[in-house]
Amino acid sequence: MNLVLMGLPGAGKGTQAERIVEKYDIPHISTGDMFRAAMKEETELGLQAKSFIDKGELVPDEVTIGIVRERLGKNDCQKGFLLDGFPRTVAQAEALEAILADLNKQIDYVINIQVDKDILMERLTGRRICKQCGATYHLVFNPPAEEGKCDRCGGELYQRADDNAETVSNRLEVNLKQTQPLLDFYSDKGYLKNINGQQDIDQVFVDVDQLLGGLNA
Ligand code: AMP
Repeated sequence: MNLVLMGLPGAGKGTQAERIVEKYDIPHISTGDMFRAAMKEETELGLQAKSFIDKGELVPDEVTIGIVRERLGKNDCQKGFLLDGFPRTVAQAEALEAILADLNKQIDYVINIQVDKDILMERLTGRRICKQCGATYHLVFNPPAEEGKCDRCGGELYQRADDNAETVSNRLEVNLKQTQPLLDFYSDKGYLKNINGQQDIDQVFVDVDQLLGGLNA
């Protein structure tokens, strides 16, 4: 089961990713997580990525594509994978096609969690993130069991300084512009599956699960 997960910030991508990889037992490959881990460990990759991430820019394609190629070649990807945060550009999407062709694989689905901008605005201002492990919560839609505390690791939850309305609106606009060419690319290839992300989290997963249940794992 070879999957790419897409969705604007606040669409609920992280939560669905967690559920998909748990149920289908495939590795969750998040380029953002890989860069953050490398930065924490201060590896060469981490140092390379840091200068771009700190400026809010994308890490150059050759670096990003390189780490994805290496990761997809590992044994645990034999049974499939869930890519999250990659591809971000059409060049990356084209590179992914080539990497997968070399590995004799192809994408089954590109799952796009769709939510209108107005609703995303509402959701994003209520977002809370774990200081320690980066898990995301929402005060209304996905609250932690204990207020202010991460269910996963017990870390302290906080609101990002840039989760105010103006910054969120700008971020969404930039993301919409970046994402559209990718959605067009995958739609043309017939991989794209839109999932209604405006339902509650459980129902979104029911829809995702129904789609994936049709694949031979
Ligand atoms: P994320 O957690 O997916 O938002 O990623 C955090 C940061 O890592 C992004 O803001 C980028 O700077 C970098 N990054 C993650 N994935 C990619 C990618 N596919 N291409 C380029 N940069 C990326």
